[in-house]
Amino acid sequence: MGKARTGLYTTQGGTLGRSHRFCPNCGPGIFLAEHVNRRSCGKCGFFEPKGGAKA
Ligand SMILES: [Zn+2]
Repeated sequence: MGKARTGLYTTQGGTLGRSHRFCPNCGPGIFLAEHVNRRSCGKCGFFEPKGGAKA
């Protein structure tokens, strides 16, 4: 089916998985900002495209 949006957290096999990711440059604690088709870091400028998700 499509993407079920139940909030920031999804349950996968009993493990809480965050949909938000940390910045690989800044490390844990710095979240990447969620955009429609990409994620970006407001601190260092890093960004990555979201695969498959098109608005
Ligand atoms: Zn960063």
